[in-house]
Amino acid sequence: MLRLNVLPTEISLWCELPVDLPRGHEVETTMELMNRCVSMKPGTRGIVVSGINRAQLLVNFAALGGGEFGEDSDAPCYMTVDLGAIRSCETGKFSEVALRCKEGHVLNPFVSNRCGFQCDSCETTMACGISMLGCRSCDYDLCIECVQAM
Ligand SMILES: [Zn+2]
Ligand SMILES: [Zn+2]
Repeated sequence: MLRLNVLPTEISLWCELPVDLPRGHEVETTMELMNRCVSMKPGTRGIVVSGINRAQLLVNFAALGGGEFGEDSDAPCYMTVDLGAIRSCETGKFSEVALRCKEGHVLNPFVSNRCGFQCDSCETTMACGISMLGCRSCDYDLCIECVQAM
């Protein structure tokens, strides 16, 4: 059953899914993901449940036995993940609609570990500890507000 209460309230549901990651498609994480105090290792497998916005999907990690949610059976097994943090188990590729920099690298989510990261779209200078999407080889970064507006 879909538990919408695990979603941040500011994110509106966006029902369209990328054609290459349809509902029920198996995906795996490409980086360590944090959900509150729970972390999941790269390669954790889950199933696509729904689209959230231009850059994020809702994935059920419990369906394939993934997710290290511990003994707490009430812990959510659904997680909102950026397209840059999951790839198809079938093709091993990122979604074609994942956001990319001008050189075509997939933008990966990260948390700014120092102040002064600037969004290359709205040019806002971000505080330390803010979630962003970025390409490290090109030093191209986007804030979440710009990503959600795309
Ligand atoms: Zn921005
Ligand atoms: Zn790049």
